[in-house]
Amino acid sequence: MVVLPCPWCGPRNVSEFRHLGEVVRRPDPEDVTPEQWRGYLYLRRNAAGWTRESWYHSAGCRRYFQVSRHTVSNEVRAEGAR
Ligand SMILES: [Zn+2]
Repeated sequence: MVVLPCPWCGPRNVSEFRHLGEVVRRPDPEDVTPEQWRGYLYLRRNAAGWTRESWYHSAGCRRYFQVSRHTVSNEVRAEGAR
């Protein structure tokens, strides 16, 4: 069972959350090439290891937050609210 640490509700089962994906820095739209913008929209690292992810507590407080998750072991470290 995977447990996520919601900063407002505490530890909860992952079934209460919606996974929003890896955290990716948004490039400046005024200073980006079409290739860079396509990479921002569609390409992810999908690494086997630690990644920073955004989650939405859909069955709880309905707030967004980030965690670090190991994609192989599903170990989770709290990152805080965003
Ligand atoms: Zn919550």
